[in-house]
Amino acid sequence: MQRITVAKGDGIGPEIMDATLKIILAAGAQLEIDEIEVGEKVYLAGNTAGIAKESWDIIRKNKIFLKAPITTPQGGGYKSLNVTTRKFLGLYSNVRPCMSLHPFVQTKHPEMDIVIIRENEEDLYAGIEHQQTDEVVQCLKLISRPGCEKIVRYAFEYAKQYGRKKVTCFTKDNIMKQTDGLFHKVFDEIATEYPDIINEHWIIDIGAAKMADTPEAFDVIVMPNLYGDVLSDVAAQITGSVGLAGSANIGEECAMFEAIHGSAPRRAGQNSANPSGLLQGAVLMLTHIGQTDIAEKVQNAWLKTIEDGIHTNDIYKDGTSKQKVGTKEFADAVIHNLGKKPSTLKAVSYSKDVVLNLPKYVRKSPAKKELLGVDVFVHWNGTDANELAKQIQQIESNNIKLSMITNRGIKVWPDGFKETFCTDHWRCRFKPTENNLITKKDIIELLSNAVEKNIDSIKTENLYAFDGKEAFSLGQGQ
Ligand code: NAD
Repeated sequence: MQRITVAKGDGIGPEIMDATLKIILAAGAQLEIDEIEVGEKVYLAGNTAGIAKESWDIIRKNKIFLKAPITTPQGGGYKSLNVTTRKFLGLYSNVRPCMSLHPFVQTKHPEMDIVIIRENEEDLYAGIEHQQTDEVVQCLKLISRPGCEKIVRYAFEYAKQYGRKKVTCFTKDNIMKQTDGLFHKVFDEIATEYPDIINEHWIIDIGAAKMADTPEAFDVIVMPNLYGDVLSDVAAQITGSVGLAGSANIGEECAMFEAIHGSAPRRAGQNSANPSGLLQGAVLMLTHIGQTDIAEKVQNAWLKTIEDGIHTNDIYKDGTSKQKVGTKEFADAVIHNLGKKPSTLKAVSYSKDVVLNLPKYVRKSPAKKELLGVDVFVHWNGTDANELAKQIQQIESNNIKLSMITNRGIKVWPDGFKETFCTDHWRCRFKPTENNLITKKDIIELLSNAVEKNIDSIKTENLYAFDGKEAFSLGQGQ
């Protein structure tokens, strides 16, 4: 018997959760259920987190959480509970299998069977955003070595244990050489530990185009958070409907299972939503907690139901489908098929012995870190970078001199182009004059000179080398 937490969520959430629970309990799932309230009602009662403290206690105690989609009210400072849950509970790996069900569900991609493994905790989802000038806002993209190692290792382990042949990595490291560059580098490092699995890297733009066009070219795809968020919806949709895919959010201690789609508020209360996405989430949960026989029974009954042409509105097509049913009737059809197997679609057989070998992250010994300079960001309303350079040179000290100014990353001084459009947000790069190191005191002196000269410095970024290797980007055009 496994104790789990269940949240029925908002919109179509309660209907698809009732259908899902009815199916898995009918199949014999050994579950004790603690239900909690999360989402819209909680948000609108004035709790901007969308969840009460007591509910966290239950989730943390039970460790396994089956969650229906929730509505995040627009505006009002409400934080996405999905993102908060993933991060609070350390659910670093988001596993999203997307498989076509040809010829029973219409799709342009009859042979598609991919698993997207999305990093779930960092990247632009750190949610660290600031406005420091009138014209420019920023969002901090954080990519960490532990984050990369954990997710990439998870992808290779998953491939190994589930008999997958290839792991592909998508990044944009031709542009983001530090952040996406680290993700790619760690991918290459960990790939060497799995010589039996093919590995490859694609730049995300052409990789995404290829995936949308020829998904059968891919097997397991691992990627940073934002790309994974977008592309897993694309992948699910091109199998036939976003309502077909489930997702597992896995951490070292806890795990959360859900559909990949949202709460579809306009469809709520009509008994028309497809419960398959959440049911797929529940199947992933049952395999995760070792109730693989039940997971197998549910999955085969679900495949048989799809194969029988009993379809909800989102996948119903005249000619292919046989009967259009509501959420409840679909659940009853799956229950009726428990114990049966599909004949055309491949029946599943899950092994109890699948264990992913995921050693804890071990921090490496620190590198030699040297301070090579500093970028001082300045809010300035002028347009001529030569004029700004003259003002900024007044705050130089004996040790540290202005070496470059960029605007939105492109070099505008020295030798800028008059065609370059400039905003009010300028990066002024300072480098040492003689030896190649500066100290924090030099930076403090620079900033206090800026105060005296009425320069509006809005933030600094230190320029470091790690083990002698420069670890910051050049200006574009530098
Ligand atoms: P959505 O996924 O709810 O809906 C997108 C489209 O897909 C709609 O046309 C909808 O009718 C259809 N659809 C989705 N699930 C379906 C199903 N099971 N059966 C049939 N059709 C289905 O996306 P949205 O409209 O952008 O978001 C609605 C709300 O859901 C927002 O408040 C958003 O914040 C939230 N959301 C929650 C989650 C989550 O809880 N994990 C994820 C995404 C969005």
